[in-house]
Amino acid sequence: MAATKAVPTPSQEITFLPYNRSLIGQEEINAVTEVLRSGWLTTGSRTREFEMAFARYIGAENTVALNSCTAALHLALAAVGIRDGDEVILPTMTFAASGEVIFYLGARPVLVDCLPNSFQLDPEQVERKITSRTRAILPVHFAGAPCDMDSICDLAKRHNLKVIEDAAHALPTRYKGKVVGTLSDITCFSFYATKTLTTGEGGMVATENPEYAEKIRRLSLHGISKDAWKRYSAEGSWRYDILDVGYKYNMTDLQAALGLVQLAKCDAMLARRAYIASCYDRLLGSLDGFTTLPLPADIEHAWHLYIVQVSREALSINRDRVIEELKNRGIGTSVHFIPLHLHPSIKRNSDTARGIFPNAEERFSRAISLPIYAAMSEADISRVMDALADIERKFHS
Ligand SMILES: *Cc1c(COP(=O)(O)O)cnc(C)c1O
Repeated sequence: MAATKAVPTPSQEITFLPYNRSLIGQEEINAVTEVLRSGWLTTGSRTREFEMAFARYIGAENTVALNSCTAALHLALAAVGIRDGDEVILPTMTFAASGEVIFYLGARPVLVDCLPNSFQLDPEQVERKITSRTRAILPVHFAGAPCDMDSICDLAKRHNLKVIEDAAHALPTRYKGKVVGTLSDITCFSFYATKTLTTGEGGMVATENPEYAEKIRRLSLHGISKDAWKRYSAEGSWRYDILDVGYKYNMTDLQAALGLVQLAKCDAMLARRAYIASCYDRLLGSLDGFTTLPLPADIEHAWHLYIVQVSREALSINRDRVIEELKNRGIGTSVHFIPLHLHPSIKRNSDTARGIFPNAEERFSRAISLPIYAAMSEADISRVMDALADIERKFHS
């Protein structure tokens, strides 16, 4: 057997700054170890505790923990009754998950463009796309900044539509003083590895409506009767009824234990990301090769993403080349997102085509997401800033 490898010392560490790295400390390791030792690994008391702590944190009435935000979005749409032939309106500027769940239910995603000079969906375009088949609007709080929820909720009210929020980026985010998770019918959060709180993989729905929560809980565990998860515990019984055709979307206690520790750090991690954003903002004020887009007033940003737009006028190289140059300097980046309407699976299944969403294409073609996460050191932040300044110097046109 190979000898156990020692933890690398700083000098042995790779010099590449990854785009993202989770902040996992001894507390997380202890919490997961405790679950391992307990003998109960799957959905149980830790999961319930995490649901309750999360509900308190965002001020939601009902929460259900699931194994991903994709599962949360799927079950949220199912809970409000989305089915064959229905239409759901969502932004093209989002991740695969927000669109695919609509197809799962036999419904049709109807895409809309971003507002000019913004990554957020344009409520006026939403209104124009409403038909007799429209059942729901699925806004995405891109990067961690909230959408124009007043306009979206007003449209939903006037046209009798449901609102399911994709809040994968929005933990925690505030809109006009109100916490995202308390604004509409159902809100879906992600605890994927790169998100602002991680359980490795995981998700949560938050809703004011106990019936939606009940339905989502049931569907998340094979559609079987209440408290099915207790079936092997002292309180449980072997007897169960399958009430709906369900799914296997439950969260495990291993994930929940991780989530509980991460939740306690959520504000501190946000403060760190906000600090990193302020460092980047300050630098960008002195560069003209990279810009950021204006943010709406009266919001609190989760800073899940920090996106710069590469200036075509000020730089002699394009976005793709800037990413290469950053990589050459040991900086990992990402791009959020390739708009849905440019992907083969969406093009094949809906009537969208290149060029119809000019704002989203413009945003995408210039976007680079910089590293922004709580585990970044001062030196890491400086490295990113130095690299950007150096690229601007070398490639200024
Ligand atoms: C990450 C992400 C999701 C999916 O989250 P999972 O927990 O990985 O299923 C959905 N929507 C957006 C906008 C995301 O960024």
